[in-house]
This record gives sequence, C-alpha cells and structure tokens, in this order.
Amino acid sequence: MIAQIIVDVPVNRTNRPFDYRVPAWLCPLIQVGSRVVVPFGPRKLQGYVVGVSENDADFADNHRLKDVEQVLDDTPPLTPELLDMSEWMSKQYLCPWVTAVQAMLPAVLKGKAEKWLTATDDLDEETCGGSGLLWELHRKRHLPLAEVEKQFPEEFLLVPGWIRSGLLATEYQVKDRITRKQQSFVRCLLGPAQLAEAAASLPARAEQMRRVLELFSQHEGQSFSIQMLKDEWGITRSPLKSLEAKGWLAIEQVEVYRDPYANRRFAEKAKPVFTPMQEQVLSPILQAIQSQSYASFLVHGVTGSGKTEVYLEAIEQTLAKGQEAIFLVPEISLTPQMVERFKGRFGADVAVLHSALSQGEKFDEWRKIIRKQVKVVVGARSAIFAPFQNIGLIVIDEEHETSYKQEETPRYHAREVALWRAKRNHAVLLMGSATPALETYALATRGRYTLLEMPERVGNRPMPSVHVVDMREELQSENRSMFSRKLHEMIEDRLVKQEQMVIFLNRRGFSTFVMCRSCGYTMRCIHCDISLTYHKTNHTARCHYCGYTIAQPAHCPECQSEHIRFFGTGTQKVEAELAKLFPGIRVIRMDVDTTSRKGAHEELLNKFRAGQGDVLLGTQMIAKGLDFPRVTLAGIIAADTSLHLPDFRAAEKTFQLLTQVGGRAGRHELEGDVVIQTYTPEHYSIVHATRHDYPAFYQDEMLQRRRTGYPPYFRLVLITFSHEDVPVVVRGAHTMADYLRQRLAETTILLGPVASPIARVKDRFRFQIMLKYRDEPKLSALLAQATAAFEEWNKQQKVLMTIDVDPYVLL
Ligand code: ADP
Ligand code: ZN
Ligand code: ZN
Repeated sequence: MIAQIIVDVPVNRTNRPFDYRVPAWLCPLIQVGSRVVVPFGPRKLQGYVVGVSENDADFADNHRLKDVEQVLDDTPPLTPELLDMSEWMSKQYLCPWVTAVQAMLPAVLKGKAEKWLTATDDLDEETCGGSGLLWELHRKRHLPLAEVEKQFPEEFLLVPGWIRSGLLATEYQVKDRITRKQQSFVRCLLGPAQLAEAAASLPARAEQMRRVLELFSQHEGQSFSIQMLKDEWGITRSPLKSLEAKGWLAIEQVEVYRDPYANRRFAEKAKPVFTPMQEQVLSPILQAIQSQSYASFLVHGVTGSGKTEVYLEAIEQTLAKGQEAIFLVPEISLTPQMVERFKGRFGADVAVLHSALSQGEKFDEWRKIIRKQVKVVVGARSAIFAPFQNIGLIVIDEEHETSYKQEETPRYHAREVALWRAKRNHAVLLMGSATPALETYALATRGRYTLLEMPERVGNRPMPSVHVVDMREELQSENRSMFSRKLHEMIEDRLVKQEQMVIFLNRRGFSTFVMCRSCGYTMRCIHCDISLTYHKTNHTARCHYCGYTIAQPAHCPECQSEHIRFFGTGTQKVEAELAKLFPGIRVIRMDVDTTSRKGAHEELLNKFRAGQGDVLLGTQMIAKGLDFPRVTLAGIIAADTSLHLPDFRAAEKTFQLLTQVGGRAGRHELEGDVVIQTYTPEHYSIVHATRHDYPAFYQDEMLQRRRTGYPPYFRLVLITFSHEDVPVVVRGAHTMADYLRQRLAETTILLGPVASPIARVKDRFRFQIMLKYRDEPKLSALLAQATAAFEEWNKQQKVLMTIDVDPYVLL
C-alpha cells in the first residue's frame, strides 16, 4: 500500500503530497485523514494522509519510497469533508495545504518534532567511563536533547564529540501532546442487602463511612467522583480508603472530559411564544431545514429584535431531524450568558469552543464532537471546522464581525468557509446582524442570500433615544472635560435613580500617545513606526506591536521641556476623571489590562450584574452581546476615533460600533438613552447611526465604495513584504509587482509597491502591493505561480511575503 502524505513543513516548496510505503502491519490502521509520523530528509515529521493506493505496482520506483513509521490515532481526525475543504482553502487563500489542515485541528494534535539523543550499540559499560550522561543513556537508550542540556549542562558540550566518535546519535521524534484527564471514582461492591448489614457493623464513631454507604444505598449502581463526594457532602479521603480496605468499595481511575462548565447547573430554558415577526422570519428558514437542500439567509434585525431566539429555534428543528448544527459567534460575545442560553436549551448536547479554554479542554470538546456525543457546537471562528458529519445548519451571529477573518495563515474568512460547508452538506446557512457587512447586504439585495428583515424590538420596546453632542461646541463653551455637559448631567441622573450605565471608549489606549506640549514631539517605538501608548499603572510608554516599553520621561528628549505628557483618552484616564467628577461612583473597568487573567472577564461582569458597580467602563469588549436589565445609559466618549483610521471600512466600523453600543441600553423594561460625543457630528455614519437607519447608511457608503473602487464593487488582494533593509524589501516588492503586471488581466488594477501605512514593525520595513479586480477566475492560479517565481528570486534575500485575499487589516 502506498500513501500520499502532506508533511508538517508549512512552506510552498513542500506544498504537495509525498508518496510513502505503508508497511503491512500499519495497513489496517491507516486511512485517508490519518495523522502519521514519516521520515523527511534527516527529520521525522508529522503528516496527514490525503490519499492511499492499494496497488504498489503503479509506482515504478516504489522500492525507493520510505516507510510510514507510525499512525497516530485509531480514528482519523480529518473527515473526508475536512480534507477536501483544506485543499480548497489552500487554493483559495494561497496557503500551504498543511496549514489549512492544522487550522482545523485542536492544537494538541499538532505534533512537535523534538530532537532526541540515542545511544548506539557502541556505547557499553566500558565506554561510559565516568560520565553520568553516558550511563543514563546506556540505561534509557534515548533522552530528549533539551532534557540532556538541562540535566547535564557540562557534559552537554561533549555531546558533539561523542556523536562524531559514534557512541551517540541524534534523531527526531514527533511527540504527541495529547493528554487525557483521569479522575478517581468510587464504586460500591456491595448489593443492597449487604449494604445495610455493612452499615450496621460499623462502629458508632465512623460517621463519614456510614454516610458513604447510605449514599450508595440511595443511589444504587451509581459511582461518585472523590472530588464530588468532597465538594457536595464533605467526605474526605480517609473513610473512603478504609471502606476500600474492607473490600466494600473500589476506587478507580476513569478518563473524564475536562469541562469548564462541569460544576455548574444550567436552568432549563423554555422557548418563548414567538412574536409574529419571529414567526414570519422562521417560516422560510424552517422550511429550508426540512427540505435538506442548500439555502442561505441573512437576517437583518435591530438589536433586541429576537434574532437569537430565531437561531435557537432553527437549531432545535435541525436536531429534531437528527442533524447537527454549528453556531458561530464572535469571540467577544461568547459570554457566559450566551453559553448559559445554549446549555439551558440544549443541555449536554452542546460543545463550547472558545479561546479561553486550555488546550486540554479544547481537545476534550473536540473529541465530544468527533465521537458524536454532542449535536451542537457553539464557538468562535475556528468552530466552523467542527468535525461533524451530518450538518444541517450553520448559524453566523453578528456576521459583520471582523474577528471571523483570521489574520494569520491561513487567512480565511469563516463566513466563506461556512458557505462552502453549507453547499457541500446541502445545509442551511443562516447569518444575522443588526449591521450586516456591506458585502453581505449587497449580495442579499441581489438575491444571493434571502434577506429577512426584523425592524422592531421584541415587545415593542422603543429604540433608545440618541443624543449627539458636538464636542467642538463644548470646547467653545469652555468645557475642557472629556465629558460633555449632556453626558455629565445624565450620569448624575442615573446615579440618583440608581440605574446602571456603560461608558464606552473606542479602542484601548489608541489615542493615549505621549506628546510634548512645547515642541510637539511624540514618542514613537524605536522598532515600529507607531506611537507609544501611555500606561498609567506603572508610568510607562509601551508599543502595542512589539511590547517595547520605556519609563515615561520627565523631560522632553527633544527640547528638555517638562511639559511632556500623555494625550488622548484611555480607559484608566476616564476612570480617574469619573472618580474626580462623581465622588463615590463605582466604576468597573474592563480592558485588556483588567481582563488578562483567566476568568477575570466573567468576574467583572458578574460584579456589574450583581449591582456592585454603577458604571461598566470599557473598550470594544463591552460593546457586544451583553444584556443587563438595569442599564439605561450608554455613553460613547469619542465616536470618531475609529473614523480616521487609514482603512476603507472606517465609516462602516464606526456605524457598527455606535449601533452596537446603542443596543446595550434600554433592552428591558427601563427605557434607554445613548450619548454620542463626537467632533464630526455631520458625518453620515454618525447621522445614520443616530437614526438607527441602516439602509440609509448602506446607500451612502455604497456610493463611497463605488467612487473609491473598494469592496463590494471591487475585490482586493493585499501583498505585504518585509525585511530589515529598505533596498531589499523594495527590490522584492518590485520583483513581484513586475511579474504580476506582465501577466494580470487588463481589468485588474495593481497599486504600488508603496510603503505600508505602518512602515516598520519590529525593525522590519514593510512595503505592499494592492490588487483590485472585479472578477478574475485565473487570479488564484496566477498568484500561486507568482509566489513560486518569487521564492526562486527570494532564496538568498529572505524577504517575508504574505498574501491576504479579501483583506480586513490594511495597515
Ligand atoms: P437579538 O438577538 O436580536 O438581540 P434576542 O433574541 O436576544 O434579540 O431577544 C432580545 C430579548 O427579548 C431577550 O431578552 C429575549 O429573551 C427576549 N425575547 C426574544 N423573543 C421573545 C419572545 N418571543 N417573547 C418574549 N421575549 C422574547
Ligand atoms: Zn519638546
Ligand atoms: Zn514596537
């Protein structure tokens, strides 16, 4: 048997399947989709089987093939569908095939090649001499090199000599990082009659032992984990040990899933009686689910219109038909509330995948999916790769979110992958948003997706009243505070009424740069071409790209003035200002600094929910998905910070953000207000957000996109080059540009090469080329060809080139 295998070397040179012979003893195990270990040059690598041929005779030179060394799993982690999808992704996103495969699997399955030191047959007791290391190797035969270095730091230096003299050799081993969690469980060995007898025979003092026996007679045939006995009934280990010694109980190690939600009970949630609007939207969706053929929908519904209930119902109907569902949410709205809503509805049928899980926990959730123990997956971007085999429905909530685009290889967009999967599985794709991405809405208006509108909130709750404050006027009226008079007044009002508020700051520390008021000098990173951000906690200025940190200087490095200080507004500064203006105000600040610890995010939200804070203050992370009944005011400190980014989506992002934040207020019985502070109140994204008018925004923005030649009118490919030396990176960019220019279709526009908006990151200079095109079916193939040619040129230069198809980040 011969297997075609792609190996774990994510470069274009090795981006094709290699043939290996499968030794007879591995033939029963190996399948398409298997993870294997194969020799590759001097190394051993992990690989994935993408094809097998039974007939060796087809391979003329098969005696020259190397053997597959190991098959790593009993069942292949890649289903045929995932394998096909990875091949499609490698073409679509111009990435090495193996990186697409890796994106689909839990991190622990990415085997790591490790160098090991091995004793040869020449190493015997005599040659070991006085060396501790050699004795150790003589005994164990091999050790990881890294461990040798740690344990025998002095003798480590002699290793190359021993290798040369033939006593030792090195080899690569692929180490599987899979771990499985074991827990001790207690099982009763006595029957009901014996139990009573045994309990009676215990001495009076053996209270805990009697309690244990009682538990077992109440729960016949059940096992309890030792942890649970301790947590729920306060039973310690020693009475269990005594009972085990008597032969009445058995304590056993059982493999369990690591479940971060294991100790929580979720209240069962009944579904509501649907509103007429929900019924209307559900009808075509449920029909499509029944018909088992591909269909796609875009639900455009204002915040609070009841979209999530629509998704839940669609999922329920899919499960009722015996099929599976994937529910994608942006990482940031994968809140405990959201998980609760799902677990409450679908109980143990749900697997949850998000980035806060440990690698082991992620692996366990993934195993539940591949073992068909769950029917629904809720998760962020990568959950689109859930290894289900009978998908009936894929839901994408907040489909406009940019976090669905992966910003590293493979640079895929989950929406696009979902579309592929839905078509392949004859499944239903259901997307929803209050502010659909322009690209999506444009396709929906042209009939590519069925457009379903939900223009009103459930229960006819009014949309919040939006007040726009022109901050230029505030300044003219001598108000230099970061709070307008309007916002100030409303905060005061909420404090009196004891209602809660969210105050939102666009982007952490984005504008908290350090500037000299005397000469205008701004502090910039010495490695990257961007301003440093001021951090109050330790009075430092830090680079957000590379982490470069310096103490905040007392004098300007340029002019020695003392008037150097930080500008703009960070969450910490707003917090300080709130404390000053409203003595006693309780602020819960959520930003990257206060939420980096695992679980901190949830703790802060719980505190706020419990009413232990008046204000929830934060960045993007508080803009979405949170639903607090007592929040009646949403304040936006500086609406236009995102408007001036060098990004053609700046207006769209601003509109989305304002709409999202506005959606936080007045979701329940209490009515809500939104205050938007801005220096450009006349900008159409702000005007339309104020009126909750998506269609008007869409019209205006589409005009802009047409005028400037951006999506959805044109599609983009961004090619970025970086290198330590400017001349080298410029040459690289021009080499690629020239190659492309000679071969591109006439209708495709090539812009550049030019310096990237952020011209230097981590001491590497950056240049870019942008391609704009409407429809060019041959472009992927041409780019693959150009990449190969570029790599030929690049052999000595080591210019880093990345290709981003349909880019989101243009910096
Ligand atoms: P969206 O996802 O569009 O923001 P949700 O589905 O979260 O809206 O609904 C908003 C609120 O209204 C939630 O608190 C939800 O429980 C409630 N809700 C949704 N549908 C109904 C209904 N048919 N009857 C009563 N309450 C509902
Ligand atoms: Zn100065
Ligand atoms: Zn830097």
